[in-house]
Amino acid sequence: MNSELIVDLHSHSFYSDGTLSPADLIRRAHDNGVDVLALTDHDETKGLVEAQTTADELGLQLINGVEISISWDRNQTIHIVGLNIDPENQDLQAGLLLIRQERVRRAKKIAEKLEKTGIENVWQKVTEKAGFEAVTRTHFARFLVENGYAKDMQHCFKKYLGRKGRAYVNGQWLPMEDAVGWIISAGGQAVIAHPTRYKLTKSKLERLVTEFKACGGVGLEVVAQRYSDKEKAEMTSLARHFELLASVGSDFHNPGNPYVELGRGLSLPTDCKPIWGEWDIK
Ligand code: AMP
Ligand code: MN
Ligand code: MN
Ligand code: MN
Repeated sequence: MNSELIVDLHSHSFYSDGTLSPADLIRRAHDNGVDVLALTDHDETKGLVEAQTTADELGLQLINGVEISISWDRNQTIHIVGLNIDPENQDLQAGLLLIRQERVRRAKKIAEKLEKTGIENVWQKVTEKAGFEAVTRTHFARFLVENGYAKDMQHCFKKYLGRKGRAYVNGQWLPMEDAVGWIISAGGQAVIAHPTRYKLTKSKLERLVTEFKACGGVGLEVVAQRYSDKEKAEMTSLARHFELLASVGSDFHNPGNPYVELGRGLSLPTDCKPIWGEWDIK
């Protein structure tokens, strides 16, 4: 296999909380020299058909993906990426529909909380923009920043939408075994997304990985952008210890973020087993 292959297995389009259309996302990936890209919208697979059309035109290999929100250990949200899924699979689609329904329930509560702080017409303004079912906190954040309620996304999560924010509402997602089960049923491989971002203790992270493996999960995002070298080394050793395959992903959402770019800085430490090692990569 070509060792210079550029692989990015985590990205978003405007079918979830990205800003680009799937076609524009694929074009951007191609311009950046990406050979293999997974589109992994939150709890939604609608963008994959459009992405495939553009990927075929440009000769880029698209991996059908999804990023599923789950609740673990009562109310800790964890993201599970599914790679090489069959988007037509009924178990998967029925599951994703349940999660999007929970997204809408939670979003209405977030809107109510924001309105209580004196911000008007939140629900209407946010759903105008979100347009699709998979409304996320990112849509709220963009609305709040654009209207001057917070100076940037980071502050917005701190002040309103994050765990300690005024309008925080915990999503009641489904358990890990359900999500991993749908991914397997759809012929895919399940990967724990951005494991360093949950701020779990080492022992809790190991428990997460143990339970994930018991459900049939096979991969860990060992490299993501904004990981420190220390985090990369820790995730590499975690993957090796638990015999998990290594995945890499930019988690790209939008152009204009200087820290996050499709396909950039994602090379894998040599002592990892890449999840794409056994894929049919042309
Ligand atoms: P949700 O899945 O609706 O809870 O929204 C989670 C999304 O919000 C993540 O996928 C990120 O895209 C975004 N997000 C979370 N925390 C932050 C943050 N501190 N700054 C910017 N975006 C964030
Ligand atoms: Mn997101
Ligand atoms: Mn995520
Ligand atoms: Mn993501």
